[in-house]
Amino acid sequence: MRVAAFIERDGLLNKVQVEHDCVITPTRLEDFKLAPGAEGLIGKLREAGYVVIATTNQPGLSTGDLSRRELDVMHDILLKKLNLDDIMVCPHDEADCCPCRKPRPGLLIEAGFKWHVDLDRSVAISDKWQDAEAARIAGCTSILIQSPWNGPVHHDFKVSSFQDAVTKAVALLDASGILVR
Ligand SMILES: [Zn+2]
Repeated sequence: MRVAAFIERDGLLNKVQVEHDCVITPTRLEDFKLAPGAEGLIGKLREAGYVVIATTNQPGLSTGDLSRRELDVMHDILLKKLNLDDIMVCPHDEADCCPCRKPRPGLLIEAGFKWHVDLDRSVAISDKWQDAEAARIAGCTSILIQSPWNGPVHHDFKVSSFQDAVTKAVALLDASGILVR
């Protein structure tokens, strides 16, 4: 079975605005900019054998602040420029009580079925606690990047940058000694 690296989208793969310690997700195409260095880091994960899947909560789809068409264009850009395997989206708002809005594990579990990946050997990389919690429930290893959004939840590793997170993820895969692609 293959293994996946689940990457939080906002702030890791695309730039975000931060206001009063809140992450503002881009809702217009002209505000959607790739994060510098992301392409090379995704390449390293893929070379190591990971299926690389971005995961993202986009409640603006439910509230009407973000159009599906606009998001689809953003994600086309992301898939092509960063060479991602997939992007999994939760389109719901908290009030929808869905199973896929992180910290719930629905996106990871769905991706596990879709891509036939072994969740126990997969990793989630994020600067937000919601991903570490979703990873814990799904049985993945979490690598949390230091940020104001780490929260008090369980995480397996904490690192200081996306680059360090990728180095850690690659090392974890080597340690398993299994060729996955
Ligand atoms: Zn959802």
